[in-house]
Amino acid sequence: MSIDFHSCKIEISKAAFKHNIEFLRNTLNDGVKISSVVKGNAYGHSINLFVPLAEENGIDHFSVFSADEAYKVQKASTQNSQIMIMGSVENEQLEWAIEHDISCYVFDLQRLKQAVSFAKKTNKKAKIHIEVETGMHRTGFDVNEWQGVAEIIKANHNILIFEGLCTHYAGAEEIANYYRIKQQQQNFRRAKRYFKDFGLEPQLIHTACSAATLRYPQTQDDMVRLGIVQYGFFPTKEVLIHFLEKTKMKEDPLRRLLSWKSKVMDVKQVKIGDFIGYGTSFMAGTDMKIATIPVGYSHGFSRSLSNQGRVLINGQRVPVIGVVNMNMITVDVTHLDTVEKGNEVVLIGNQGDLEIGVSSFSEYSNQINYEMLTRLRADIPRILVD
Ligand SMILES: *Cc1c(COP(=O)(O)O)cnc(C)c1O
Repeated sequence: MSIDFHSCKIEISKAAFKHNIEFLRNTLNDGVKISSVVKGNAYGHSINLFVPLAEENGIDHFSVFSADEAYKVQKASTQNSQIMIMGSVENEQLEWAIEHDISCYVFDLQRLKQAVSFAKKTNKKAKIHIEVETGMHRTGFDVNEWQGVAEIIKANHNILIFEGLCTHYAGAEEIANYYRIKQQQQNFRRAKRYFKDFGLEPQLIHTACSAATLRYPQTQDDMVRLGIVQYGFFPTKEVLIHFLEKTKMKEDPLRRLLSWKSKVMDVKQVKIGDFIGYGTSFMAGTDMKIATIPVGYSHGFSRSLSNQGRVLINGQRVPVIGVVNMNMITVDVTHLDTVEKGNEVVLIGNQGDLEIGVSSFSEYSNQINYEMLTRLRADIPRILVD
């Protein structure tokens, strides 16, 4: 017999992912490749579960932030997908990456030179993506470094594969950044020309994240790095509204993959005037029936949802009362006819006709979707559902 040791679970919908990927493929310009961004444990969806699911749906390129994530994708992959590290790689990790055909962003000369020397040492070609500075001012080669970079690539063309030329936009999800993003696109065009004029042809030109892909389709180039949209979320409401206006669609075309569920742990009556839980943050204004749920801030149910959050029980929306504890919340079930220990509780997802969306959840807790998703504790079991 297998025992379920957990107090909650996260379901990942296969059908929702299939739907999103089909929708995204239809939206992209012809021939544009998708790199599935799976940093932050696949935005909380679990690399282990998500990578094979994506591969079943034809994805063969994954982007991660760091070497530890690349390692996880490598272990989870059931096909020979390409993995690309966009951020942190230390020396011995770089050597490992080259040995295993993993591509790496290169944004400083030291890393470029190390890639050359590790490639020689391991007798493998190093797959590099040159990140250029276009205005994000985080990482990337400045214009005055381009010549040095180009010379090294040219001199080592037998051991370096110039696999990509790339940059990242500083907030394509907000129209307030319009001017800066346009400026970045212009600077990137300069970089493309520069390397071309030098006689260097990167295999893949890529700059666009989800927001840029939808908001500025001309940035799609050869490949797009899609994170949040594949999991079923528009990066911001702004991007959604712009997209709906542009396409004349009536409603959000994406479907959320993730549902978070638990069960009622206990039900009890409290009397008018009783304080519920720690301190005095909630006092019963009438005689009440309350239920406790074994999920708290340690699982990713933010403490700022105290007296704010909502969950679904028996097809009804019920409010969180009192403060969110480390492992528990209390909800008001006074108006539910029947509620008992073991009843399903939906923290995110649908029950009956009702839904708790990640975005309403995030807004109450003053987090963005990205943050809320990646804060879902990694050891909550993720389960694939149809
Ligand atoms: C996270 C990330 C992406 C994906 O961003 P989304 O908004 O989730 O699509 C793309 N590129 C880089 C460099 C990133 O760090």
